[in-house]
Amino acid sequence: MGQLATLFSPDRIAVVGATDREGSVGRAITANLLDGFEGDVVAVNPTKDEVLGLESHDSVGAVPDVDAAVVVVPPSIVIDAIREAAEAGVQNVVVITAGFGESGSEGASRERELREIAAEHDLNLVGPNSLGIVNTGVGMNATFGPESPQEGSISFMSQSGAFVTAVVDWANDRNLGFHNVVSLGNKAVLDESDFVAEWGEDPDTDVILGYLEDVVDGRAFVEAAREVSRETPIVVVKSGRTEAGASAAASHTGAIAGSERAYEAALDQAGVLRVESVQDLFDFGSILAGQPLPEQDGVAIVTNAGGPGVMTTDAVGDSDLSLASFTDETVEAFRAALPDEANVYNPVDIIGDAPVERFEDALDVALADPNVGAAVVVACPTATLSYDALAEAVVDLQAEYEMPVAATLMGGSSARSANDTLSTAGIPTFFDPARAVRSLDALREYREISRREYTEPETFDVDRDAARGILEAADRRNSNRLGVEAMGLLDAYGIPTPDAEIVDSRADAVEAADRIAGDGEVVMKIVSPDILHKSDIGGVAVGVSPEDVADTYEDLVTRARNYQPDATVLGVQVQEMLDMDSAVETIAGMNRDPGFGPLVLFGLGGIFVEVLEDTTVRVAPVSEPSAREMLTEIDAAPLLRGARGRDPVDEDGVVETIQRLSQLVTDFPAIVELDINPLVATPDGVQAVDVRLTIDQEEL
Ligand code: ADP
Ligand code: MG
Repeated sequence: MGQLATLFSPDRIAVVGATDREGSVGRAITANLLDGFEGDVVAVNPTKDEVLGLESHDSVGAVPDVDAAVVVVPPSIVIDAIREAAEAGVQNVVVITAGFGESGSEGASRERELREIAAEHDLNLVGPNSLGIVNTGVGMNATFGPESPQEGSISFMSQSGAFVTAVVDWANDRNLGFHNVVSLGNKAVLDESDFVAEWGEDPDTDVILGYLEDVVDGRAFVEAAREVSRETPIVVVKSGRTEAGASAAASHTGAIAGSERAYEAALDQAGVLRVESVQDLFDFGSILAGQPLPEQDGVAIVTNAGGPGVMTTDAVGDSDLSLASFTDETVEAFRAALPDEANVYNPVDIIGDAPVERFEDALDVALADPNVGAAVVVACPTATLSYDALAEAVVDLQAEYEMPVAATLMGGSSARSANDTLSTAGIPTFFDPARAVRSLDALREYREISRREYTEPETFDVDRDAARGILEAADRRNSNRLGVEAMGLLDAYGIPTPDAEIVDSRADAVEAADRIAGDGEVVMKIVSPDILHKSDIGGVAVGVSPEDVADTYEDLVTRARNYQPDATVLGVQVQEMLDMDSAVETIAGMNRDPGFGPLVLFGLGGIFVEVLEDTTVRVAPVSEPSAREMLTEIDAAPLLRGARGRDPVDEDGVVETIQRLSQLVTDFPAIVELDINPLVATPDGVQAVDVRLTIDQEEL
């Protein structure tokens, strides 16, 4: 194990605030520790002589070699208790006491103090406001929950302590065991990233599950999870997805929920399986802990019941798995083993009178087929079938083939002991075949994650000083909004822009148009940091012929004045006109998330971008393969590939622009938001014709 080994396996643990008062938290924790912990338990409480048969000490320092302390004293004396423990050499502290960041300003300042002490003494500190921690590996239940979890290979962290007790109770009913359980509490010091990193190095943890309401340090989490998820699956349910949920979460643990899209992109990039419900969290957790990964996407369904077989088939259709098509040999083998009325194609229907032997034969044949990667056994209770015998047969065959199997033994009490047999062997069982298939699909999804190759983001040769100069110039104008006057930023980062010039007189406009286009047409745009959407006020003139340039100049300036008399007008941009016939207007942009940093966006662009909302995002920095994926993810992807006989656009150019933009916004934290809209993509290349950004002067 890693850094937190002693936190989870202390030789000696002290309960600071131990008591035998009925119904108290201090008593519950002491009693839970006394029940099965392999190490020493020490009671600390100066007002007692004895607690539950333990001698009670006046302070942690009175006992040598305490590795960990669970702190349950009232909030007003928590800080002193921890300082005392730290000074006595205790490195690991679990703070159960509530009344910190979640409860007003006094609590918040107390939590700051807690952080300071932890930093000063380099403490591993869980909580405050935690239910505690569990390590079944050493029989340690340092929580005040009513039940101890069973031993298993899942490690689970939860931002809600109450949820931990519910989960343990429920999981015990289903033979679902845990290795470590952590109630994160307010995460003043240790947070989800620390436990992900720890469990990633823990040979006894096969699957990491998390119930999270927020992520403290988004980038740290992405980095830790990306490393760990290659070897150890991580499944997270993040609550507060909806706006109502987010405000509930914010008041719950004092957590401020980050933007939903940032989470989605970040968890995906980190290789985290994100689920929407608590049911999926534990369904996925138990199959990932109990079953191997499928080598094929083909699923075999073996059933004694037509209807449920069809339900299962539908579920396969809804998933990213497929219904396996059997080889001729397999079909022959089914014919030889099954009655004439049986369906020897997938789903294999072995008919309602099937005894266990027929299930056994059919599953044996199915699992041997090279096109089969996983199997679902779907059964309804009949007089000819013993569920218990079926469960044993499924367990044996699964072990023999070492392939993932899920079971759906429909029924109530008739299936109970069979389900016990299956779940003890790590084979998940469900009433609903759709859940069985979703679980198998989670194995497939994790297989893809575990095979992912991480590519370092590319670093291009750019002119960083020029870019800085442009940002500083805006700062001198005391403006935090920039428009096309900042096109030079893109040039400095190698993002192509059309030939253009900003002018502030009729005569200069005519001259610029002549230089740029000669006899041809140009595009003219008002340049003002106060006008965000130029087209909306008629501030963009496309296809201006040379004789109209001077009048158009006047016209644009007048429109700006009418629109907003006090608007700062920097001039008019005269821009090369692009041939839009074979072009796709895309958008490449960025906004900065408080937790995850810059998010890079790509999508269908143009003036209707808000209406169409066809975009996808990544947490920066964006690597080449990741940028390429973004192009395929939008609904308008076929347009880029050249729909209806058009030539495909220069996808490499778009991909490179996304990467260069990612580098720009990573290099300059001062850029808070940026839109290149449109980024015009044609078969011959890409051109950024418009830019708009907001800067934070403090960061310059
Ligand atoms: P805004 O977004 O402020 O309205 P843009 O500069 O994006 O202003 O221009 C609006 C639209 O005008 C673009 O979406 C594009 O269709 C068209 N356009 C702008 N510049 C050019 C150009 N150089 N060549 C051809 N079309 C252009
Ligand atoms: Mg625009």
